[in-house]
Amino acid sequence: MHCPFCSAEDTKVIDSRLVAEGDQVRRRRECLSCHERFTTYETAELLLPRVIKQDGTREPFDEEKLRAGILRALEKRPVSMEDIESSISQLKHALQATGEREIPALMIGEKVMEQLRALDEVAYVRFASVYRRFKDLNEFREEIDRLENQPG
Ligand SMILES: [Zn+2]
Repeated sequence: MHCPFCSAEDTKVIDSRLVAEGDQVRRRRECLSCHERFTTYETAELLLPRVIKQDGTREPFDEEKLRAGILRALEKRPVSMEDIESSISQLKHALQATGEREIPALMIGEKVMEQLRALDEVAYVRFASVYRRFKDLNEFREEIDRLENQPG
């Protein structure tokens, strides 16, 4: 990259280390022309893909919505928050790893099911039985609400 002091094109990396628990690379660079030193930080682009809904509309990925759906499926199940958060984190990584800018809601649902299956069989069945039919996290939540409010 260009030197921020003299705009020379050639700079060399004199030190490179992982920071922020490995999420960033910090590089010390030196300009080959003016010999000024400067630091750059390199971070992976962690944008999550936008969600293509069943009706073709797009919306931003909503982590809270995802978490709410997962927590609902895991209600009263013996699974720790730590495991749930780690699962959500894996899910986000999987979505980022697709490299897609937009991803069908259905595909996210399938990935949620994979995670739930690993966490808790009952939660997986709850989610799968409803989600496969409703194809949308909002509808899924509404259906679970309805089931829970039924007597017996
Ligand atoms: Zn320079």
